[in-house]
Amino acid sequence: VAAVRRDGTGADGPGWQVRVVPNKYPATVRPQESTPGKTPARGEPIELLQTVPATGAHEVIIESPRHIRSVTELSASELAEVFRMYAQRLDHHRRSGFYRYGLLFKNVGSAAGASMPHAHSQLIALTAVPAGVAEELAGSLEFHASTGRCVYCRMIELERSRCARVVAESKSLVAVCPFASRFPYETWLLPREHTSGYESVTRCQAGATASLMARVLRGMERLLDRPAYNYFIHTAPFDRHPLDHYHWHIELIPRLTKIAGFECGTGVYINPVAPETAARQLREVLADQ
Ligand SMILES: [Zn+2]
Ligand SMILES: [Zn+2]
Repeated sequence: VAAVRRDGTGADGPGWQVRVVPNKYPATVRPQESTPGKTPARGEPIELLQTVPATGAHEVIIESPRHIRSVTELSASELAEVFRMYAQRLDHHRRSGFYRYGLLFKNVGSAAGASMPHAHSQLIALTAVPAGVAEELAGSLEFHASTGRCVYCRMIELERSRCARVVAESKSLVAVCPFASRFPYETWLLPREHTSGYESVTRCQAGATASLMARVLRGMERLLDRPAYNYFIHTAPFDRHPLDHYHWHIELIPRLTKIAGFECGTGVYINPVAPETAARQLREVLADQ
């Protein structure tokens, strides 16, 4: 459905650098294929068995024609094209008018849910804003209402003044291990300038995001011996930005601990590595490479 390719090469042939294809095993069905929902089968109790169709678009972004396992094996300009493609696909689904939210995510390693080793990411566009994102939006709206500030801008300001949880920064972004983070070595990348939608990043900002991500991932791969990980872009709902209270960011989570009974039962996470310790170790390994 989309590709970055060398000049003079045609669609669906060799010469591509980044390529986007529909997922062969989609979690969702396209709008024209889905049946109307909210009606249980005849004779079933509607108060218990409500359904909605799993309407959405599910795509795979193949990040290199070479058989590589990690995006850290890509050159800076190759990874920049990948991060531009993320924005381009999100923008495509926003413009289609079918969807309200698009989650761009990456699974690396079987502990992170990956079934394929070749470097790739996925995008699922949905007709509703998913609950986890809605909760973040509600929390940031509440913070904005009580302080008049974007919680992420405020967080960036605080972390940069304290440094204890800063992993790395560049001219336009900062990487931090967030305060009271859920997972060991959980790291967030945030643009320093307030922007709510990732799909509106410039070519230059997408390149800067790729470059900081590569740096952080290289550090993590070295420090944690190529861990399984997930990252995902949290961006504003398609129909609701620009927003003053929401700020796009990428959450990067190495999968070193299992979500167990306590986490499932409470939604509270036990993290054995303090973010201050994680950030210091990541800073040290980054300084050394
Ligand atoms: Zn902000
Ligand atoms: Zn988030």
